[in-house]
Amino acid sequence: MNNRIIMHIDCNNAFLSWTAVHMLHSGYKIDIRDRFSVIGGKESERKGVVIAKSNLCKERGVVTGETLYSARKKCPYLDVYQPEFKVYKRYSDIMYTYLCSYSKKIERYSIDECFVDFTDNIIKIDNPVKLAYKIKDEIKKNFGFTVNIGVGNNKLLAKMASDFSKPDKVHTLFYSEIKEKMWPLDVKELFMIGKSSNKKLHDLGIKTIGDLANSDQDFLIRHFKSFGKIMWEYANGIDNSEVECDYGNPKSISNSLVFPYDYSKLEQIYKEIKKLSMMTGKKLRDKKMYAPNVMIWVKFHDFTKVSKQITLDTLINSDEDIYQNALTLFNKLWNPDSDKKIRAICVGVSNLTDVYKVQLSLLENQKDEEKNNNIHLEKAINNIKEKYGDASINYADKV
Ligand SMILES: [Mg+2]
Repeated sequence: MNNRIIMHIDCNNAFLSWTAVHMLHSGYKIDIRDRFSVIGGKESERKGVVIAKSNLCKERGVVTGETLYSARKKCPYLDVYQPEFKVYKRYSDIMYTYLCSYSKKIERYSIDECFVDFTDNIIKIDNPVKLAYKIKDEIKKNFGFTVNIGVGNNKLLAKMASDFSKPDKVHTLFYSEIKEKMWPLDVKELFMIGKSSNKKLHDLGIKTIGDLANSDQDFLIRHFKSFGKIMWEYANGIDNSEVECDYGNPKSISNSLVFPYDYSKLEQIYKEIKKLSMMTGKKLRDKKMYAPNVMIWVKFHDFTKVSKQITLDTLINSDEDIYQNALTLFNKLWNPDSDKKIRAICVGVSNLTDVYKVQLSLLENQKDEEKNNNIHLEKAINNIKEKYGDASINYADKV
C-alpha cells in the first residue's frame, strides 16, 4: 500500500452557507444560517423542493428533496432563497484558489469539494493533521464559511473521513485506523454504495463495512460482478486512484460554420445557429458538463468580426437553452436591415463545470422526476434521468 497524504476538503452545507456569506457581504444584516431558511425552487403550484436547509430547519425535520410546501408545514416562518449558481461558482473558485496556495496537486471533485495531495509537496509537511486544522480555520476566518477536512492515505479514506461528523471538523482515517473507525459503520456509509447495493448487501447479511471487508471476494463478485471487487477493496481501504488535477477538462466548447455563400436571410441564419447550438449542446452533454456562459461570434462578408457573451444565473446544457441565448446575443449583433452579409458564425459555451454532481446528490431523496421542473436545476436533473436513467442519480449520490 502506498503511503500518501491526501486531504478531502468539503464545504459544510455549501449552498446555504455561501448564500448567507454572500448576503452578509452585500450588506444584509441577518445571517440566514441562524434562521429557518432553505435554498429551494419556486413555491408556486406547490412544486419547489428543498435543495439546502439551515440547521434550525434540520432540527424540525426538514430534509433535502422534500417539497417547500411540506417544509413550510414544519417551519411556518420559513425563508426561501433561490439557487444562485454565479454565487456558488464564485465561492467555489475562492476555496479552490486558496487551496492552490498549498499544493498544485488539487482535484476539484465537485463544486464544494476538493482533493489535495500533499505527498510530494515542496513545503515539507511534518504534521498533516495540524495543517488540516490550519486550512480549516483559515477558510473560516478569511471567507466566512466552514469546511470539513478528511485526512487519509488515499482519496477514499480522506473522503470517508471528511464525512464522519460535521460541521467545522478535521478527521483522520489512516490505514491503521480503518478497523476502529470505518468497519463499525453501516455498509451504506461506504463510498459508492447506493440504495440498491445497500439493500442487496443487507439481504446477504452484510451489515457493516467490516462485514463487507471480511467477506469472500468471489462471493461478492458472484453477486455484484466487477463492482463486488471494488466494494471489497473500498471496505478494506484500498484505493490507488490519483488526485487528478483539473487541466484535463476543457473550459470551453464551440462550433463554427463558414457558409457556402454570404447569408442575409434571418430564417436561414437562425437555422444555422440552431445547428451550431445543437452541436455544442451534444458535446457538452457527452462530457457531462454544464456551462453558465454562452458566446457567439459573427464574421461578416468584409471579414470584420463581432462577438458577444452572456453569463447566466444558471448552468445549462440543453440545445434549446444554448440556442435561445445564442439567438438573443445574435440579435444584438446584427440588424437584418443592415447591408452587412454574414460569412461565418460560431456558437460556444465556456466556464464548463460538472457542478451538477453535487446538486444531484442534494436531491437524492427526490423520487418523482416528473415534478419540480420549475427551476433549471430540477429540469437538468430530469434531463439527466431521461438520458442516463435513474441509476445516474443513485450513482451520483456518492460521487
Ligand atoms: Mg459539502
